This record gives sequence, C-alpha cells and structure tokens, in this order.
Amino acid sequence: MSVFPQLILKPKKERAFVHRHPWIFSGAVEVLPKAENGDIVEVHSNDGRILGFGFFSPYSQIVCRVFEFDPEGRTIDTDYWKTKIQRAMAVRQQVLDFKETDCYRLLHAEGDFCPGIIADAYGDSLVVQLLIKGTEKLIPVLKDAFLSLGFKHVYLKTKQSSQILEQVNEEITWLTEPRELPVEVKENGVKLLVDFEKGQKTGFFLDQRENRRIAGGFSEGKNVLNTFCYTGGFSVYALAGGAKEVHSVDSSQAAITMCDENVEINGFSDRHQSYVADCFDFLKQAPRDFYDIIILDPPAFAKNARKVENATRGYKELNMLGFKRIKPGGLVLTFSCSQNVDKVLFQKIVFGAAADVGRNVRILAHLSQPMDHPVNIYHPEGEYLKGLLLYVE
Ligand code: SAH
Repeated sequence: MSVFPQLILKPKKERAFVHRHPWIFSGAVEVLPKAENGDIVEVHSNDGRILGFGFFSPYSQIVCRVFEFDPEGRTIDTDYWKTKIQRAMAVRQQVLDFKETDCYRLLHAEGDFCPGIIADAYGDSLVVQLLIKGTEKLIPVLKDAFLSLGFKHVYLKTKQSSQILEQVNEEITWLTEPRELPVEVKENGVKLLVDFEKGQKTGFFLDQRENRRIAGGFSEGKNVLNTFCYTGGFSVYALAGGAKEVHSVDSSQAAITMCDENVEINGFSDRHQSYVADCFDFLKQAPRDFYDIIILDPPAFAKNARKVENATRGYKELNMLGFKRIKPGGLVLTFSCSQNVDKVLFQKIVFGAAADVGRNVRILAHLSQPMDHPVNIYHPEGEYLKGLLLYVE
C-alpha cells in the first residue's frame, strides 16, 4: 500500500534512475504527484514499479530530489532517518582522527543521501543548515538523532534556511539549550574559534581542512599571503608550520577580528599581520618579490549556472594577480568552490591566467574536499571544491 503521493516518470525516463542520480528534472515526469512543495513522494516508473522516495519541489526545474533508491519494503519513518545519520557518523569515525580534529561535516547533503541537509559538528555542538523545502519537517528527528550520537547543543542556521522556514518561527535557532559562542574547536591539532551565529555558512569552512594541512607543511621560513582568509584557517596552519610572516586579508571586519583571535590563541601574533581590504586591490599593490606562498580562496563567484561567464573573468583576474605577485619559485594554492565551475573549466581558467602573465607554471597537485565531504558517485556535482597547488618560476 502506498503511503506517499506518486510521481510517475515518462516511459524510458527511469534510465537516469538506474544510475541513481538524485535529481529528477521536470521534463522526465509524466504525472506530477498530488502533493505540496516539500512533501515526500514515491517515484514510479511508467510501468508502475516503485523506484524510490524523494522531496517534491514543484517550482524548481529539479522537481524531485531523491534520498532513497532501494524502496522495496522500506518505511520512511523516524528510524529510517536515524539510521541514515548513524551511517554518516560511522563514515566519519572511520576516516577522521577525533583526537586531533573535533570539527567536521556530519551530513553532506546528496553526498550522504540527505539532499538539502548540511550538518557540521563543532565539538559537542551540531549546526544544521536546511536548503530545500521539506527538510524542515525533519527537524525533530534530526535533533533526536544528533542527541543520541552524544551531541549536547543543536543550532539551526536560520539565515541560510529562511526561505524554506517561512512557517517556522524565525527565533528558533537553538533546538537545545543555547551555549556561549564562539566555541573553541581543534582541527589537525590547531585551535580555532567558531561562531555559528555570526559567522558565514555554519561558522567555519571545514572543507579546506586537508588543504590547510598541506599549506602548513610547506610554510617553514616562508612569507605567506592568505587572501579571502575569513577567520584565518590557512594563516594559523602556516604559522604553526613555522612561517616567517603571514599576512591575512579579508573584506569583512568581523572575519578579521576572529582571524586575529585565532592567531592569538595559538600564540603566533608576533609573526602575523591582518588587513581589512578587498583582495583584488590588496594584490594589485602588493610587492612582487615578497610572498613565497599565496593562497587564493575566494567565495563562489558562480552562485548559479548563469553566472559562470562572470565568474570565469573573476577567477582569471584573481589568478593573474596571484601569478604577478608570487616570488620566483613560489607556490600558489588556488581554489574555486563554485559548483558550476568544474575542475576542467577551472584548470582552463588558471591556464589562461598563467599564459597571459607569461610565467612557467607547474601543477604539483590537484586539491579537493576532505573525506567528511563525500561525493555520491552518482552525483558528481557534489565535488564542488577544486584547487591547484602550483609552482611558479
Ligand atoms: N579561506 C577561508 C574561507 C574563505 S570564504 C577559510 O579557509 O576559512 C571567502 C571569504 O572571502 C569570506 O570571508 C568573505 O568575507 C571574503 N571576501 C569576499 N569577497 C572579498 C573581496 N573582494 N575581498 C576580500 N575578501 C572578500
């Protein structure tokens, strides 16, 4: 017996389904379900077989985001979601060293078969971001599941979730007893302050953890420029790695204030300078023969597919500035977190920048997101962070 409204695919359109891609586009649908925005629906093939379950989204091109591809005999209830979250935790327990790192992504949307749900752990606090309609109905289940995993505080990031939370009281942010912010966490042994309330995203960019470690490993005796530094993650690692001098630049005063605090609590203030500035302007006037390492980690320039062309220009200009300012024999770590700029396109853009500046550039490594940001193999779009470690002659 069917408990959820049915979405019926056009004949032959279940092929994408066999490939377990979690997005159903409107063109593939023959019969829309009698359902509201955000309702869970059953996906059926044209010949009447049940194929999966997903969140219905009638106003989007992606009309359904599937979270279950093995529907046979499955009940979508509280236990179902709890099990999913426990499995996500089991992955992190296998690949992370919790003694050195107590901040990590527990739920990575499609990467953990939870479309529209992000959950980041900061010590014993969990910060949740909800990105699609329907997920808000899971708030009580999510909370219970997190508490049963041992988390003490659960915070709902309403700013980013507000579009889908119109029925929910805006005041609801703490789902448990609140706690004082910022919290102090550790990442690869480095201390960091995180404020989920005032900070960007869930408070910190956990996705750069491994790249920060790599950068720190090359920093001994070097002058390092960390552009788009936010709260100084790369800066603290570079200083911990023995950098001679580190300069951190961000346009946000709040970010720079916390960056200074992060440097301070790790005891490195004497080798660090911070600047509230536009990174493009800063790079334009920076000296040409001072920085041995430059980190370029801007925000997503292409927030959607229509913005790719502008984003391309932005990335190219930024990388040209980096190539002009890096000392001969220096390293540039350059990143893009735009989902709509894939790694092939990104490399082409960086190639264009190198060619225009006219310096020899070698790719030493391709960089990506860490293991707590898993990519569902059927949803390659989930690999959003790409970077290059470059040696510039
Ligand atoms: N590298 C950081 C994350 C960067 S997020 C980390 O490891 O944590 C992007 C940052 O760029 C944000 O802090 C934002 O305030 C800043 N930003 C955006 N546009 C900027 C600009 N034009 N100049 C300087 N900073 C900018």
